[in-house]
Amino acid sequence: MTTIQKTHLYNFTLAELKDWIVAECGEKPYRAVQLFEWMYQKRVTSFEEMTNLPKQLREELSQRAVLITAREAVRQDSKVDPTSKFLLAWPDDVTVETVLMRHSYGNSVCVSSQVGCKMGCTFCASTLGGMIRQMRAGEMVEQLLYSQRLLDDVGERVSSIVLMGSGEPMDNYDEVMRFIEIVSSEHGLHIGQRHITISTVGLVPGIRRLADEGRQVTLAVSLHAPNDELRGAMMPVNKAYPIAKLMDACHYYNEKTGKRISFEYALVGGQNDSLECAKELAALIRGLPCHVNLIPVNYVPERNYSRTDRKQIYAFWHALQDAGINATIRREMGHDIAAACGQLRAQHMNRRAQ
Ligand code: SAH
Repeated sequence: MTTIQKTHLYNFTLAELKDWIVAECGEKPYRAVQLFEWMYQKRVTSFEEMTNLPKQLREELSQRAVLITAREAVRQDSKVDPTSKFLLAWPDDVTVETVLMRHSYGNSVCVSSQVGCKMGCTFCASTLGGMIRQMRAGEMVEQLLYSQRLLDDVGERVSSIVLMGSGEPMDNYDEVMRFIEIVSSEHGLHIGQRHITISTVGLVPGIRRLADEGRQVTLAVSLHAPNDELRGAMMPVNKAYPIAKLMDACHYYNEKTGKRISFEYALVGGQNDSLECAKELAALIRGLPCHVNLIPVNYVPERNYSRTDRKQIYAFWHALQDAGINATIRREMGHDIAAACGQLRAQHMNRRAQ
């Protein structure tokens, strides 16, 4: 018996869903708008419930298409703040993490763009087992909807998205952009593009492409060190795209879009946290409209490094501010539940291997 691969409807933008429903179901395009609204605004989980679609179409859809493909493998709720982390599993047995962070100013969801990662940053848990496969747009949408459905119970919505889970979004560019188009659609979740942040390890072609396409999304660049020697030791990607090339691309991005860049800087004890580093960093980014996000590094058991102590984190922050650089220290959310990317998945895989 041959099994028919069902079409995953969350992979489609509204325009693609219209094409599909016309070509595959012989329906009028407005049916796609109705379907899209059921999927994203009413957020039902079965075709049965889509009561303004003809019964015959609902039956055809259940035979040919699917909505939900992921299931929850693990859930962890933080005891220290309103943060929940989910490990979602797909039928091919891959897992990724997604995190819901509830702030006073809104709800933010962290989405994974790849299963694992091939970038090899020395402090990161996501890259430990390499890259397994890309996440499709619909799988990223499902991560988001997972949190949105929980928020539905309390009448709240997801207000911002950060692509800061496992994976490198610029290494899965087309699917990430399709995901953004879907979730920002006014017929769908209608999350404004400026409330969506793409965090990149520094893939220069992706940054330039984003600049040329003039999208409204927010760009975050993982800088983590102010010179090639240090950055190269922490991030293998620095060989392909050294700091000078990366900074050129950042200036290009800012000139093209007029948007400020957010630089992420994970402070690792004794590696990149000296006051000399702070000064070097300030000199590197001076003149570029930007913001530095200082992240106290999250401990990863497989990695051998220490955290910068509180006093030094503040000293580094002050040094940047004294040099006229806009900087904040990232508030840690859910540190008791391994909320840094890749940690829950790594634990889950280790447990299964035992
Ligand atoms: N591939 C993207 C998204 C990665 S996750 C990127 O590199 O930007 C988002 C951020 O978390 C990145 O800045 C990443 O460098 C950082 N990060 C990874 N592991 C970390 C850890 N153990 N502690 C603190 N930050 C970490």
